[in-house]
Amino acid sequence: TEMVSVKDLSEKIGKPAAEIIKKLFLLGILATINQEIDFDTAALVASEYDIELEHKMDKTFEEVLSDEDHEDDSKDLENRPPVVTIMGHVDHGKTSLLDVIRSTHVTDQESGGITQHIGAYMVNVHGQAITFLDTPGHEAFTAMRARGAQVTDIAILVVAADDGVMPQTIEAINHSKAAEVPIIVAINKIDKPGANPEKVMQELTEYGLVCEDWGGDTVMVPVSAHTKEGLDKLLEMVLLVAEMQELRANANRMAKGSIIEAKLDKGRGPVATVLVQNGTLKVGDTIVAGTAYGRVRAMLNDKGRRVDEAGPSVPVEVLGFSEVPEAGDVLYAVEDDKLSRQVAEERRNKQKIQQMKVMSKVSLDELFSQI
Ligand code: GDP
Ligand code: MG
Repeated sequence: TEMVSVKDLSEKIGKPAAEIIKKLFLLGILATINQEIDFDTAALVASEYDIELEHKMDKTFEEVLSDEDHEDDSKDLENRPPVVTIMGHVDHGKTSLLDVIRSTHVTDQESGGITQHIGAYMVNVHGQAITFLDTPGHEAFTAMRARGAQVTDIAILVVAADDGVMPQTIEAINHSKAAEVPIIVAINKIDKPGANPEKVMQELTEYGLVCEDWGGDTVMVPVSAHTKEGLDKLLEMVLLVAEMQELRANANRMAKGSIIEAKLDKGRGPVATVLVQNGTLKVGDTIVAGTAYGRVRAMLNDKGRRVDEAGPSVPVEVLGFSEVPEAGDVLYAVEDDKLSRQVAEERRNKQKIQQMKVMSKVSLDELFSQI
């Protein structure tokens, strides 16, 4: 087990060694300043100060992951499809656009009749793939970002031509800018009698979004989710902006990705949609995402078909997690034994510390009441 000296602990948590020795004494441990105590005991003492001691094991675990997360050689990199999020004010047509893009660009042959909602889907535009995140809304986006997941390459900002810039439009602009994600504006509902695309363009200039016709560099496409006008142009623009971003990944390595959504399915157990961001995820791979781990038992694509592997930018539903991971958790596929051992140990330790915390509260309180 991991050991730490009283001196090191004192430095680490910024408390006098004498105090620590006293606390140890109350726990029935007679220690000197150079004495090595085990991690759990050290964590227990730290918890007395409301400090959560970071397990060295965690770091090793993170190190394992970051080792696997090495930079790719540029010769191993290939183009990958862009991952697109649709944002905008409520009722401006996000869901309608997602639905119409999905239904018009997924061929019958592919769909097998049933469209699966797994939180993301891929479409084909002139032989080039685009991945759409199916969870419109700022909450999903910010929650993911807060958890460290950067999954979006391009944001489509939907603004209704009959309504113009609204509070959530501005929010979406701010989020995209903070994430440094390029924005393509879809001016929607141009079929409506009261539509005024020019007014929308005018309003957007106030937020630094100036269309190309007016000397700016923001792509703006008038569209209608109802008549489908402008949709092809919009998708072409997505591919164009993606091309400028030079989105690349290495398909020949173990997968790294993000959890898009996850749930507990009655029959199938924990199910999570994973967006593979680098490498290739394969059935049989050992995986970890947050505190969930396991082995990929089966994978289903956005058309509900079983697949054996999923490469960069491909969303798949993954079965085989030990528990339900959280949206935004980063997923790694790793070498078997190394990982399962570390995760199991980490979890065990966390549980143990939790139990000891509860127990020590009681015993120390008892002790002090006697003094
Ligand atoms: P969301 O809240 O952004 O997801 O917006 P919805 O997709 O739910 O659309 C809100 C309303 O606007 C619905 O009644 C849609 O039928 C309507 N709508 C969406 N796109 C268009 C469009 O291009 N033209 C017209 N006329 N109505 C639209
Ligand atoms: Mg909606």
